[in-house]
Parts: sequence; structure tokens; C-alpha cells
Amino acid sequence: MAGILFIISAPSGSGKSTLVSELRKQVSGVDFAVSWTTRAPRGSEENGREYNFTTRADFERMVEAGLFLEHAEVFGNFYGTARRSLDEARADGHDLLLDIDVQGGAQVRAKMPEAVSIFVMPPNPRVLRTRLRNRSRAEGVVNEEEVYRRLAAASREIENYREYGYILVNDILDRAVAQLEAIVLAERFYRNGEVIAYRSRRVLEVAAACMQNNSQERLKPVLEAFGILNAPDQRQFNFGEEPAEDESDQGSDDEESDDR
Ligand code: ADP
Ligand code: 5GP
Repeated sequence: MAGILFIISAPSGSGKSTLVSELRKQVSGVDFAVSWTTRAPRGSEENGREYNFTTRADFERMVEAGLFLEHAEVFGNFYGTARRSLDEARADGHDLLLDIDVQGGAQVRAKMPEAVSIFVMPPNPRVLRTRLRNRSRAEGVVNEEEVYRRLAAASREIENYREYGYILVNDILDRAVAQLEAIVLAERFYRNGEVIAYRSRRVLEVAAACMQNNSQERLKPVLEAFGILNAPDQRQFNFGEEPAEDESDQGSDDEESDDR
């Protein structure tokens, strides 16, 4: 049985790595493609676990040798997915998850239109700024310039959301994890006829609600907050009220959280 290729993209700091690591704890049979990158390891990252860290010269050699399924420059560093990751997952009959940026997503979709694509959005720029700052703080130092560089890139990346089949808004973590899990189980059910072990109807409903085609109302406030519904020359972030000193990111508490 052929595995399913999942592409997941998101602006940096949206919580994509967190979601993927939670998914991998809960769903078996999904391989994660460890990308190659020329950027330096961050925080507790280990070579071969989060990324294969390499030099620019070696990366260029790999490009020339045609070893990458896709590759792109992101924030001044190079990132690429080795073809080998796909070959190995296929040989094992496993699903494969690619955590790649929107440029890489477009390259893979062009080669493999059957891939399932998922775009993760932060709920608004203020939450994204908090997450980027918290992550920097956890790594030892808050680099405000870097935080703003990633914030500015976020709205440009979010503009590409229409290219993705499913959209998650990572507000409340548990809910977003349940939605991601539902998408994987629903795709396995539709494509491979794999039985869903529990609450199958609910799982299919949750996945269907995440389809881009069914998400316009849900996405409107997010797109507005990132200025994406404005004309390009009027675009600006809406950070909402200036946060209090103890700014935190607990997700909104005014929405139902039982999405299972
Ligand atoms: P990405 O992989 O998209 O760059 P990370 O997974 O590193 O983002 O998450 C950025 C920061 O936000 C991390 O500190 C993470 O713990 C936090 N985070 C992720 N998702 C949530 C969430 N739903 N609620 C609160 N914090 C979150
Ligand atoms: P970070 O440096 O924060 O881990 O990742 C920065 C961006 O690079 C993220 O959007 C991430 O999805 C993307 N990225 C990670 N690996 C790859 C890859 O192999 N190919 C592409 N195109 N992007 C990648």
C-alpha cells in the first residue's frame, strides 16, 4: 500500500514543529523527513534529529548531484528535502511528512499533485510575536530584529494559503493537534480505506471543517489581523490592544475546545 505524502507549511513561530511532534506521539506510521539545512543548530536541536546540519558548500554539492526533492532559501539559509527520505518511506509503505516552507511546498506539489497539503496559521500577529519572543527567550536571547523579520515574512507566507488543501489555526494547542490527527486519519480512510478506530464520524467532520474550501469564515479574522484582506499598499499588522506586562499565549478561551 502506497504511503501518503503530507506537506505542512507555516510561518515561522506558528507552532508547526510543536504540532508535528505531538502528532508523531499519537499517530504511528508517519515518517518525518529530516531536512538538510545550512543554518546553525538552535537551542537543544541535535544533528540528525531536527535537521541534518551542513555547510553551504556541501549543500551546493548536494544540489548539483540532484539529491534534493526540493530546496529553497529561507531567511538567508538553505533548506532541502533529500529524495532519499521519500524513497525510504515508499519502500516501507509509510506516510511521509514534510515540514517545508511555501516555496518548497510549491515545488513538491508541482511534482506530486497527489500530496496532501496543510497550512498552519497563528491566530493573529500578536500571538505570533509572543511565540517568536518566547522561543527566542527559551534559547537564551530575544533578538527583536529577527522576531520582526519573521513577523514581516509571516503575512507574505500566509498569502499562499489558498495553495493548501487544509488550513489549521494554531490557537489552542490541543485542538490544533486533534485537527491535524483528524486530517491524517481521514486521508488514510479516504485513500486507503483504513479504518478509524474511534469516533470515526467526528474525526471525518473535524477534518472536513479544516478543508480550505470550508474555512472562509473561520479564516477571515486571521487574514484581517495580518492585513491580507487589505489592498497591498494599505497592509499593516493589527496587533490589537497593547499587551499587558505579563503577556502570555494561552490561546483564546472563548471558543469550544472539544474537537475530537
Ligand atoms: P514553528 O515550528 O512553527 O517555527 P514552534 O513549534 O517552534 O514553531 O513554536 C513556537 C513557540 O510557540 C514555541 O515556544 C512553542 O512552545 C509555542 N507554541 C506552539 N504552539 C502553541 C500554542 N498553540 N499555544 C501556545 N504556545 C504555542
Ligand atoms: P526554522 O529555521 O525555523 O527551523 O525553519 C525556517 C523555515 O524553513 C520553516 O518555514 C520551515 O518549514 C522551512 N524548512 C525546513 N526544512 C525545509 C526544507 O527541507 N525545505 C524547505 N523548502 N523549507 C524547509
